[in-house]
Amino acid sequence: MTGVTGISNMPPGSPMRIVVVGASIAGISAARALRRHGYEGQLIIVGSETHPPYDRPPLSKQALTAESIPDMRLDASGAIQAEWRLGATAVELDLERREVALDDGHRLAFDGLVIATGTTPRRLPMARPLGGVHYLRTLDDAHALRTDLVAATRGVAVIGGGFIGAEVAASCRARGLPVTIVDAAPLPLEPVIGPEMAELCAQVHREQGVQLRLGAAVVSFEGEERVEGVELGSGEILDADVAVIGIGVVPVTDWLTSSGVTLDDGVVCDQWLRVLGASGQPVPGVVAAGDVCRWRHPGYGEAIRVEHWENAVAQGEAAAASLVRGDAAAPYAAIPYFWSDQHGIKIQFVGRRHPGDELTIVDGAPADRRFAAEYRQDGRLVAALGFNRSSRIMRYRRSLVEAAGSGVTRVHHEIGVQ
Ligand code: NAP
Repeated sequence: MTGVTGISNMPPGSPMRIVVVGASIAGISAARALRRHGYEGQLIIVGSETHPPYDRPPLSKQALTAESIPDMRLDASGAIQAEWRLGATAVELDLERREVALDDGHRLAFDGLVIATGTTPRRLPMARPLGGVHYLRTLDDAHALRTDLVAATRGVAVIGGGFIGAEVAASCRARGLPVTIVDAAPLPLEPVIGPEMAELCAQVHREQGVQLRLGAAVVSFEGEERVEGVELGSGEILDADVAVIGIGVVPVTDWLTSSGVTLDDGVVCDQWLRVLGASGQPVPGVVAAGDVCRWRHPGYGEAIRVEHWENAVAQGEAAAASLVRGDAAAPYAAIPYFWSDQHGIKIQFVGRRHPGDELTIVDGAPADRRFAAEYRQDGRLVAALGFNRSSRIMRYRRSLVEAAGSGVTRVHHEIGVQ
């Protein structure tokens, strides 16, 4: 099989070229799946970083704590058989000519396009360029942060208590460094896991020696060339020779603004991950996957965007299937799932909770930091959370997937490093 049935207007036997923009997990997953589906045409993968594609989950964990940064390469064996354009950034999409323009002046014509440009860290307005102040998204970011953590003596201020903040704080404690998390929210992660479980996570941080400043604002960074402290709205100055900012991310869609694709906090797609054009109709042969993709979830009945690794893997696979098989592919109805490693606890969450859902501890005890909890809406299971209860959470995951009929059941260990 060489053709791509989801791409319309292509005479049979025409040379095929699929361009994947974004060389992180969603793009790599799509590329692998295209080959698995039998696509034998030209495959070009564009990535703005110069490193060969690598996995990001270890960046806030092992990359900061292990003796040395682990090997995180995603295609170490070269199995994907693609033409790589690394160190090149897509700057424009021309849908009439069906071309992607790169910042090195090249233009890539395509028959099929996978948009997998992910997200970039939201910037803190008062964070001027100062030694010791970091964002964490890339391998280069992790190298720079690790270097500063090795040299740090006074302490680390972590701005934002979400996933990056919580995991970096845990990694800093593992290195024996004093750490303070500053979060604008009264309880970090509350919108995702609810107030009771968010309070428990805060307790875990406190008992591991992490200071928390919640509902707090950063006013300024002290220091001339390097950060020496972080001033809060309360007037308190946190002593710090390193600061890490993790206050959320924004989808990378700047290169799409003149293209006519529909943008709304991400690239808007239908249930088959087909990118919608200005008319609201799918653009033939153009799909999206990963953090950048906002798609109409058939089970939830609304358009959502998910910023977690497992979704990027499964969505890359689904986007490839949509390109190759067109309408014959299944709509993408994956149940959101994430894990986070903090202070030796594996926190896992599957499903979606809403305010007012009933929370019940069903297995183990929060005090032991080993339990599972169910979230139910009108008696119906909608989500589950576990602390060090992997097998139980995987069972919940299967139940939720079966109930939704989404078909995305397997855990994708083949690509990533957990
Ligand atoms: P995040 O999880 O969205 O958390 C950001 C936190 O920063 C929120 O608690 C937010 O509070 C707070 N915040 C926002 N503005 C602030 C400000 N000006 N000062 C202090 N706090 C502020 O985002 P992230 O931690 O930056 O993570 C980035 C991305 O990496 C996410 O997509 C995340 O899913 C991904 N990631 C995932 C994992 C994992 O799955 N284990 C691990 C690492 C990273 P409000 O909610 O009130 O705005």
